[in-house]
Amino acid sequence: MKHNKLANLVELLLINSEKLHLTKSRDRIYFRNRLFILLGIQLNEYQYDLVSNLHIFEILEEIYDSLSESQQEIIAATKEQAITRIIDQILPPPSIVECTFKTIKTNKSLKAATDWYYQFSKLTDYIKVNAIAKNKKWVSSTAYGTLEITINLSKPEKDPKEIAKAKTLTNSSYPKCLLCIENEGYEGNGNNHPARHNHRMLKIPLANKEYYFQYSPYLYYPEHSIIINPIHCDMVVNSEMINNFFAFVDYIPHYIIGSNTDIPIVGGSILTHDHYQAGNHIFPIEKAKSKFTVSSDKYPNIQISYLYWPLSTIKLIGNKADLLNAFELVKKHWYEYTNIDLDIIAYSSNNERHNAITPILRKIDENRYTLYLMLRNNRTTEQYPDGIFHPHADLHHIKKENIGLIEAMGLAILPGRLDSELAIISNILLHNKIERPDNIIKHQSWINELKDKYLTFDNININQILQDEVSLKFAKVLDDSGVFKQDSIGDSEAHKLINYIFN
Ligand SMILES: [Zn+2]
Repeated sequence: MKHNKLANLVELLLINSEKLHLTKSRDRIYFRNRLFILLGIQLNEYQYDLVSNLHIFEILEEIYDSLSESQQEIIAATKEQAITRIIDQILPPPSIVECTFKTIKTNKSLKAATDWYYQFSKLTDYIKVNAIAKNKKWVSSTAYGTLEITINLSKPEKDPKEIAKAKTLTNSSYPKCLLCIENEGYEGNGNNHPARHNHRMLKIPLANKEYYFQYSPYLYYPEHSIIINPIHCDMVVNSEMINNFFAFVDYIPHYIIGSNTDIPIVGGSILTHDHYQAGNHIFPIEKAKSKFTVSSDKYPNIQISYLYWPLSTIKLIGNKADLLNAFELVKKHWYEYTNIDLDIIAYSSNNERHNAITPILRKIDENRYTLYLMLRNNRTTEQYPDGIFHPHADLHHIKKENIGLIEAMGLAILPGRLDSELAIISNILLHNKIERPDNIIKHQSWINELKDKYLTFDNININQILQDEVSLKFAKVLDDSGVFKQDSIGDSEAHKLINYIFN
């Protein structure tokens, strides 16, 4: 019998996936044949030499690298597409994934079912485990408590050859966007639509209809998930959304859920497809102290507090019916709220709305929930062309992108460029260097501030100093995004508004 490297790798893939409970030995012959056909391996008998410590992802990479260039091209235009297509050969279709989830939920627990689905999404290379591991993360204490920082280094870098190839591919309008459920199993276009052969979603019952549940391929926190409307339609923050939040946390009680606002600048990047984000993480905002409380004759059973938090946030604890009413009330008043002295103007002369809400919900016990309503405004002026309540220009050297849901809750997602820039700044401070590369000029006044603030920099303290100072900058980014500032005027105006809303 012959030895064939590719056939050997296929066998390793099958054995490893059985060990990881991704596949069953009963299906090995069937999956082997499928893989042989896709990979162009001749259907002969082979001798296997199966000693290897490779992880399933490494085996997939090695399979791809061992293929002839022509065979690689037969499978897919890009490596990413080819690898997801290869692993898809051994995966069950969505209905079976859903069925397994439901069986585990019934026989064990809902928590066991989400644990299984999370693990499944990682093992099938849907969650990009290796890419996410590249992110730099730390926590630092600030005036607002501990803030979490992530430098996002997980974005895939494309091979120039593949970029050139992608240019020749035509962009179609199918699927309409990255969130559309039509991405499930979609081959991708090598350009703006990633390959999704290995994508499996779960239908979950929400208030009025079923939504689709999946984990984020580039998670920013544990079990970072996305809940997607099966219809491609605009985001709208309304009571239907909040009703869906309640249904979601009743279904998956150990997750928090929230949504970006429904207008630009003060929220997420995709406004054209209704979706929420959830996960198994306690965010910094949940540990924020209360600045003041308000009692309400209308809602005696709701605990109403205003948080000591840079983004103006009302925290409400109560039952479902009361909180739904409270949401409607806050929305009605906030959407009409104008305070010229604070630069908050609800509508432009062309009737464009500028006030918006970032809502977040956590279940406490059988009948009690915590609803966080963050008050946002997206107006721009000549002085602040990116937004009045958006990180101002002096912070753009650290962060200039929108402050969406995750960051508003206290977890910064900072651009990948910062990693190499911080290394250069560290070198400048340690060795008192004078020359500044082009990408460091924007940090000059920060470098001067650091020199004034700290007497010495050495190999032991430099990392901690830079991490803490980046965190302080992030706190300022959030300060800029708050509509009521953290001073006596901001507090008293917030108090007036909340008192007016609830009484
Ligand atoms: Zn869509």
